[in-house]
Amino acid sequence: MVSEYEIKKQICEIGKRIYDRGMVAANDGNISVKLSDNVFLCTPTGVSKGFMTPEYICKVDAEGRVIQANPGFKPSSEIKMHMRVYKERPDVKAVVHAHPMYATAFAIAGIPLTQPIMPEAVIALGCVPIAEYGTPSTDEIPNAVAKYLQNFDAVLLANHGALSYGDSLIKCLSQNGIGRVLRPAAVPFQTARRAQGAFQRPGYQAV
Ligand SMILES: [Zn+2]
Repeated sequence: MVSEYEIKKQICEIGKRIYDRGMVAANDGNISVKLSDNVFLCTPTGVSKGFMTPEYICKVDAEGRVIQANPGFKPSSEIKMHMRVYKERPDVKAVVHAHPMYATAFAIAGIPLTQPIMPEAVIALGCVPIAEYGTPSTDEIPNAVAKYLQNFDAVLLANHGALSYGDSLIKCLSQNGIGRVLRPAAVPFQTARRAQGAFQRPGYQAV
């Protein structure tokens, strides 16, 4: 059983990695982990994700309301987006949102990552659709991504960035699967297009 403090440290580690890789600038991006059905850890708003310590991490309920936060820290302004993912996908235990350059370029250009180019990307990553633009911190983004959640494990946010989610942040780390959480958002241009259907979940109908 991994302690809550260890999970907070792992969130900080993920934050450092996405910052060091240039996937977030300034105070961009947010990370969350599900502890139980109504308890979640999340990064705070208004801080660089590259320099966090466990004391930065906030605890919220399934509605995004604060359970515990140290003075000076408030949950991510995008917490509604994270909570919508957990609500729609009970299998998901970790969510990462970032603004990686290449994926964000596709999101701005309006090009979903659905065409096959390299086999590794097809097998490991699959399709990533684009959710319609929504104003950050409002219900528009959660509503826009909701219809893709059942059928994909990563979504581009139009004119914004990328959102990916997996079954365990710990598992993602320990199995070299940090890529599962991060790479759909970080994949470079050459590998960005992937096979139609390769990563679609069963029962997918085109939207
Ligand atoms: Zn963002």
